[in-house]
Amino acid sequence: MNNEMYNPYDDVVTTIKSAADLLELEEKDYIATMYPERELKVSFPVRMDDNSVRVFEGFRIQHSTLRGPAKGGIRFHQDVNENEVKALAAWMTFKCAVVDIPYGGAKGGVMVDPFSVSRSELERLTRRFTAMIAPIIGPLQDIPAPDVNTNSEIMGWMMDTFSMLKGYAIPGVVTGKPIEIGGSLGRPEATGRGVMIALRETLKKLNIDPKTMRAAVQGMGNVGSTAARLISDMGVNVVAVSDVSGGIYKPEGLNMKAIMDCLAVRGALIKDYNEDGISRISNEELLELDVDVLIPAALENQISDKNAERIKARLIIEAANGPTTATGDPILYKRGVTVVPDILANAGGVIVSYFEWVQNCQSYAWDEDEINSSLDRIMCKAFEGVYALHKEKGVSLRTAAYAVALKRLVQAQRIRGIFP
Ligand code: NAD
Repeated sequence: MNNEMYNPYDDVVTTIKSAADLLELEEKDYIATMYPERELKVSFPVRMDDNSVRVFEGFRIQHSTLRGPAKGGIRFHQDVNENEVKALAAWMTFKCAVVDIPYGGAKGGVMVDPFSVSRSELERLTRRFTAMIAPIIGPLQDIPAPDVNTNSEIMGWMMDTFSMLKGYAIPGVVTGKPIEIGGSLGRPEATGRGVMIALRETLKKLNIDPKTMRAAVQGMGNVGSTAARLISDMGVNVVAVSDVSGGIYKPEGLNMKAIMDCLAVRGALIKDYNEDGISRISNEELLELDVDVLIPAALENQISDKNAERIKARLIIEAANGPTTATGDPILYKRGVTVVPDILANAGGVIVSYFEWVQNCQSYAWDEDEINSSLDRIMCKAFEGVYALHKEKGVSLRTAAYAVALKRLVQAQRIRGIFP
């Protein structure tokens, strides 16, 4: 999609206002939720392998600490910009509130194409960025995690850098770490598992058998690949997948196991995968395929007023953050497409990040069954609350989810009062 003129933070404000209208709130009650609490912009030098020096720019933006420490991922991408990070930070606030975990929201990002730098350059960049944002992060302040193009290895470097600066090991400063240094079982697949739960619960409400469903998944990274695998285990026929290199489509259904094996090789992309009977399609074509379920799991701004009329799926589970714009959303709603919003559908990641942080605070590790069953319970409880409000008020699941979250934020603000 064309990113010109698109400001995702405008979408955040639009959605907050619809939720506030539904709750009949006065502006003074929720105005603070429309602004990020704190924004840090950093520029920092990195020594490259050829001894040259490059300066990178990045952000850490804390949208809210009303309900607990700020929480949210770190993105490494060439298109990272302030408005995107602001929107991603706000979505974290609403996500943590809708699933009722005691966190606020934050996000960070560095403008870099991580595939254009070497592994050692990436490590030095990560460590220097961590040092630059160190004054405002910490287990009681703001806890980063992986997002697009960041992973457990990068979280390990962040944890080590922060710990070295403080002089002792502080595992709770980031989540999504390797298990050996305080990571949690179940965290790598938690977001995709939550997406599967969101689809499962929606199909239950609509009285639809998963085995009759055909799905397309955009994005085959951490979230998309896990979601595709788990929904296919549930019986859904995954007929199309894609990544930055393009997509593949096979009406009879793709061999998800073979795709996973292919992508397990470092650097492998969907363009490297082959199977009899597949056709190569673009990401735009994937979104408009004749399928029952569409799972956008790549980046924001994929479904807008430019293509919403042509989306054929009757059900969209938003695995990515912000895949549908405020211009696309009403078109889908009018056409009767059920959209399970990002702040609910992809909350599995932050829920298990919360479990990881609790385990770090207690220096005690849970087993995987306990993690997965607790994730299921929290996701289902949040889903029920949102679904009930959506039915009661006759509004979209997105407006209902924001209203549930906004109500909790406004209550917290009322109880805490406004300092001084
Ligand atoms: P990732 O880096 O692991 O994967 C991103 C995937 O998207 C890759 O397959 C990449 O090739 C693909 N992609 C990139 N640009 C694309 C484009 N223009 N068109 C199509 N595909 C493209 O990232 P991830 O962690 O899987 O995150 C995916 C989305 O899920 C993001 O919106 C992220 O904010 C959101 N999310 C992630 C988590 C998490 O725990 N990682 C939690 C909640 C939400």
